Amino acid sequence: MKIPQFVQEILQKLQDDGKESYCVGGCVRDLMLGRVPEDWDVTTSALPEETMALFTPRAFPTGLRHGTVTVGNGHQSVEVTTFRRDGTYQDHRRPDTVQFTRSLKEDLARRDFTVNAIALGLDGVVHDPYGGIPDLKNGLLRCVGDPDCRFQEDALRIMRGLRFAATLGFSIEANTAAAIRKHKDLLNKIAVERIQVELWKLLTGKDAVRVLREFPEVIGVFWPEILPMVGFDQQNFHHIYDVWEHSLHAVDHVPPVAELRCAALLHDIGKPHCFTIDDNGLGHFYGHAAISKDLADVMLRRLKCSNEVRERIVRLVDWHDREIPRTDKSINRALRILGEEELRLLIKLKRADNLAQAPEFQGWQQELDKAELILNRLLDEDSCFSLKQLAVNGRDMMALGYQGPEIGKVLDRLLNQVIDGELQNQREILLTAAKK
Ligand code: ATP
Ligand code: MG
Repeated sequence: MKIPQFVQEILQKLQDDGKESYCVGGCVRDLMLGRVPEDWDVTTSALPEETMALFTPRAFPTGLRHGTVTVGNGHQSVEVTTFRRDGTYQDHRRPDTVQFTRSLKEDLARRDFTVNAIALGLDGVVHDPYGGIPDLKNGLLRCVGDPDCRFQEDALRIMRGLRFAATLGFSIEANTAAAIRKHKDLLNKIAVERIQVELWKLLTGKDAVRVLREFPEVIGVFWPEILPMVGFDQQNFHHIYDVWEHSLHAVDHVPPVAELRCAALLHDIGKPHCFTIDDNGLGHFYGHAAISKDLADVMLRRLKCSNEVRERIVRLVDWHDREIPRTDKSINRALRILGEEELRLLIKLKRADNLAQAPEFQGWQQELDKAELILNRLLDEDSCFSLKQLAVNGRDMMALGYQGPEIGKVLDRLLNQVIDGELQNQREILLTAAKK
């Protein structure tokens, strides 16, 4: 197992100073799984001020109260945290006090899951007092200690648990899973920003769908809007799954891009709110995309998503059920509103939505192939679908005598005419048209 040079140097320097030091947490877990660790954490018997003194001027007191010093070398940084024991918890998130200790075992005891509580020394010796290695081998996520206590102490661990299960592809051990369900409502105590971070990671995990399927009631704590989907019978021959299962299959069929996965999860969330049955006993959901869009907007605002991310997901949900005719004109129009990147995401979403329907209706894939071919060709041909690409600009319009908001209006109209094939995107032609 290879610890990178810059981390080795930190471990060594602490040892040379007579302190214990180990890599710990996610980096050791990922190393053992043959994955590339994202960040490196070191745990040490050195007190924070000792670490600070040892690594000045490369040491930064990023979390002294919890014993954390960040040691950087310009490119990379490592969090070096003093062995600690957490005191009682009152806010279900952060310990009221922490006590530094000289015991590695005590430090490992405060960590959330056994697979995150393994320490690795410079000598290659692994310290695993809570059975993380067998759990890693068996693909099991298990709390260190009593799960009931651990989730009550810090409810963020509930979301971390689901996230690790999804990203590592692990099962959640039975007692841990039961405690997650039992204490799920404590998620209300957790900052939504934290929940959002974990949710995005969960959604891009390879086993996101399995975890969502197993724990809808946990997601339902902050997003109760999903619960009516679960088990909602569509009563329509296009569908072989209820709304929730259909949505999960859609999630499964899009690539692991958080916005796309989220749009797939929410695209039909409005369905239970507009269900009707016709005289033949067939279920319909007229106008569901607009309701889904509004619900998605509220849900994403609640999680305090960035405007950019929220607007994109909402647009994808809004557009998921619109037919985009396979013509240059309509693809250009879609390009104008969505841009290339988002239109490609939309096509992926539409594919997934279709693949999650009854198999006999999946012939629609060929129509999406056609749309994609047209899209590629238009982009190859440098087709004009935005004001930036138009052969005239605002200054040209001013030269013709247009003023203020008129300028934008004329340009818009010219662009629409170009997109619709009524005018060619050539300067002289557009200037002549603008004069009229
Ligand atoms: P990632 O791959 O996301 O970095 P990680 O396991 O390294 O996963 P971090 O948030 O970087 O997660 O935390 C590093 C280590 O600190 C964890 O492996 C775990 O041992 C401990 N830890 C982090 N958050 C908690 C928590 N809320 N409760 C208990 N231990 C935690
Ligand atoms: Mg980490």
